[in-house]
Amino acid sequence: MIEFGSIVNGKQVKSGNWIDVYNPYTNKKVGRVSSIDTKTLDKVLTDTRNTKITLTRYERYDILNKIANALEDRVDEVSKMITDETGLCLKDTRYEASRVSDVLRFSAMKTLDDDSEVFPCDVSKNGKPRRIYTTRVPLGLISCITPFNHPMNQVVHKIAPAIATNNTVVLKPSEKTPLSAYYFAQLALDCGLPPNMLNVINGADVQAIAEMMTIHPDITMVSFTGGSKVGKIIASKAGYKKIVLELGGSSALLVLEDANIDEAVEVTMSGTFKNSAQRCTAIRRILVHEDIADIYASKLANRVKALKYGDPYDSENDMGTVITEEAAIEMETRVQNAIDNGAVLLVGHKRDGALYSPTVLDHVDNAHEVVAKETFGPVAPIIRFKTLDEAIEIANDTPYGLSGGVVSNHWPSIQRVITELDTGTVNVNEAPSYRLEWTPFGGVKDSGLGYKEGVIETMKGYTYVKTYSLPWD
Ligand code: NAD
Repeated sequence: MIEFGSIVNGKQVKSGNWIDVYNPYTNKKVGRVSSIDTKTLDKVLTDTRNTKITLTRYERYDILNKIANALEDRVDEVSKMITDETGLCLKDTRYEASRVSDVLRFSAMKTLDDDSEVFPCDVSKNGKPRRIYTTRVPLGLISCITPFNHPMNQVVHKIAPAIATNNTVVLKPSEKTPLSAYYFAQLALDCGLPPNMLNVINGADVQAIAEMMTIHPDITMVSFTGGSKVGKIIASKAGYKKIVLELGGSSALLVLEDANIDEAVEVTMSGTFKNSAQRCTAIRRILVHEDIADIYASKLANRVKALKYGDPYDSENDMGTVITEEAAIEMETRVQNAIDNGAVLLVGHKRDGALYSPTVLDHVDNAHEVVAKETFGPVAPIIRFKTLDEAIEIANDTPYGLSGGVVSNHWPSIQRVITELDTGTVNVNEAPSYRLEWTPFGGVKDSGLGYKEGVIETMKGYTYVKTYSLPWD
């Protein structure tokens, strides 16, 4: 059992009230974090806001690399802790730990860059012998709210760029999986992060704490990753604050008539089931041309049958649990509804507590609830199509607009898919989720407002551009 106090001003503060954390596979308590009330949070936010951070670029670079080194020395401990709180298998959580290192190292590298610009002013008849310069200024206090599904990576995607830009953060990680966020913050302090640059809190009264993290006057920006429903609540309440929302998704993979079927199956496997399919960019709909759908479906079903799932602590397993038994019951119900309404079950659809087996459904209709809503678990629904027009129409027939993918070697069709999918990302012959930690990432429609994350864009988002001008003959 691991225990953390709230991380405030460089120390762990224990209120005496706790939020307990359970492993979804064993149902055993694996840890707890201190719960704070809104009165305490009010002071934490103001004190954090009043702390000015003036680390040099080299100092920020050095701290970020020290944290990365420390994490890399502790991969076994970190991945086991993420498995404890999520039920994700060790293969997935070791991968998450390595992604976290990338985020830290990319942030360290970008800290050293100066993206200032210089504009000569003697370039028009209205000009003068002057030069205008730009410099980036930290926004101030950033309120970060994160979801359960990548409990350390999503946190570090918000924190590392804040360290890289001398901002201060108060973080509220998911109450379901808070442990790795507190662990990270303590490690960062041990690696020399100044007190109050990163404070981490949680509260048993989630709604009251979350609301204060959205509306408090000392907050300059709210950076949220989570479901679209909560994202829209934040958008309606944040008022005159900058907001970045990274929300839900319903990624389509389009498998076109000319696709190499083995390649399409490979892309589907890598894009669907990792992280128990609890990724915002996971493939939620596989649109397959009717001429190749039978053979594709049978090859996919064979691959999925061979997936090993179960005990998340067994390092041979490919998949552990989803986050809770209730979540597993919800996906089981949606799959059953689809079957009752004409879909054909090829593999899976077995549940034991929070374990839900990797499932393949064929002949799904885009109106079935299992695809019309974001089903956040290991379900691969095949929707058959006749023409590319129809495939693009189905792919866009969703409230979400996060990512998409296409498997084909026919360039005119590929170009149409890239141009016509209403999504933030389109990957060709690759899973919709593919990216590097520093490349721009984010969605449109109900998946987000079009602002991007990824280390480079987040660093831009956490700063404003100040211009100044100087006389220059
Ligand atoms: P969630 O929206 O239920 O919770 C996310 C966070 O919001 C938690 O910390 C929660 O405590 C907090 N919260 C709850 N009520 C709130 C309120 N009224 N105001 C402010 N914050 C509040 O999401 P979840 O179930 O933890 O995560 C899964 C969802 O996150 C999925 O929809 C997934 O697609 C999405 N997600 C999106 C991305 C992305 O980058 N686009 C990445 C990962 C996950």
